[in-house]
Amino acid sequence: MSDALTHTPSHDPIIDSMGRLVKLIFGPDRATRARTGVILLCAVMYAICCSAAFYAAEVGLIRDFAPKLLLATAIPCYTLFYVLVRFGKTRTMRDPNLMLPQQGFSLLCIAFAYTAIGPYDRGLVLVLIALVMVFGMYTHHPRQAVFTGVLAMVLLAICMGVLSHLDPLYYPPTLELLRFELMLGTLPPLILAAYQISAWRNRLAQQRRELRETLQRVQELASRDALTGLYNRRHMQDKLVNSMKRYERYGERFTLVLIDLDHFKRINDQHGHRVGDEALMSFASAAMLALRESDTVGRWGGEEFLFILPNTSPTKALVALDRLRTALQHCSISAKVPSLRVAFSAGVAQHEVAVPVHRTLERADRALYEAKRAGRDRCIVALGEDR
Ligand code: GH3
Ligand code: MG
Ligand code: MG
Repeated sequence: MSDALTHTPSHDPIIDSMGRLVKLIFGPDRATRARTGVILLCAVMYAICCSAAFYAAEVGLIRDFAPKLLLATAIPCYTLFYVLVRFGKTRTMRDPNLMLPQQGFSLLCIAFAYTAIGPYDRGLVLVLIALVMVFGMYTHHPRQAVFTGVLAMVLLAICMGVLSHLDPLYYPPTLELLRFELMLGTLPPLILAAYQISAWRNRLAQQRRELRETLQRVQELASRDALTGLYNRRHMQDKLVNSMKRYERYGERFTLVLIDLDHFKRINDQHGHRVGDEALMSFASAAMLALRESDTVGRWGGEEFLFILPNTSPTKALVALDRLRTALQHCSISAKVPSLRVAFSAGVAQHEVAVPVHRTLERADRALYEAKRAGRDRCIVALGEDR
């Protein structure tokens, strides 16, 4: 089962209706379907056990009440488990697969089976405990794994003690004692193994989480400029290629704005490098505020910046740049020189035909050069691409 089931309708009506049926029975998303699958598998196993128990009762191997009791408890329990899991009621729980209640139920079944099976066959039941514990190793927390094992031992010990006391003929005390010793000799190592495996699993999951977070942080750091916090040139290059692909696939136009701060060297020379850095940071914050969330702002080089504005015409880009210019006129860059302002020149070019994106960038660069030549503190829109 995959999410393809959810998203991609096939052209075959039989496959489509099968997909709908699977979703109806197992649930709408992949995680729910996996959980519901496990519940239904267990339900089928109980159904098989029930029919085996009815047969065993008929041939006198177990007591009559056992199969009826199993049926009367398994049906409501597993209906409840199915409804809770199928309709996503357990999704936010710590145990969304309901493993703990399922194991509790199976331990009760084991205890019932122990009381119902004939004196010489009931030792087999002990093997089932191992099966239950193996299931739990892969889902439980270490403490839950121990709890399950200890609960199994306590339940069976109670059965052995109480039953051999009440009905020594059907539950011969010597045999019960022998089985109790057998249980004491085998279950504790299994409980320890279950504890260790769940602990390893937990540790591995924790390490995987940490690794994923670290990777995210490293990727974030690798794509950012340390001074301004804007995207760096490498990331902007990736963004440019993505924008070009989107244009080619969906015809989504975008406009590039290449910006260069005016007389920036002078700011450095007159007020020091630190004030220069402050100016770069102020410009970055002002640009982030002036543009939309869907726009991308990056530091292209020293005091050069690149904006990628999707679905924006050059005219609209000019409006945004005007907003930025006004913001910068009201924005004090440095407490050290409160009157200092920063101005910029910009070249604007729309990506409008299927050409490599660097061609659009070159047009923006030429427009920027013209803006500088024409006296700075202005924006110039590049001519269209020669077709
Ligand atoms: P124009 O108007 O022609 O662009 O003049 P300009 O002075 O801005 O141009 P120029 O390219 O001569 O100077 C750019 C300056 O930007 C020189 C460089 O020291 C400075 N710069 C580049 N990166 C940084 C930085 O990270 N911090 C600081 N403080 N200055 C930087
Ligand atoms: Mg420059
Ligand atoms: Mg400059």
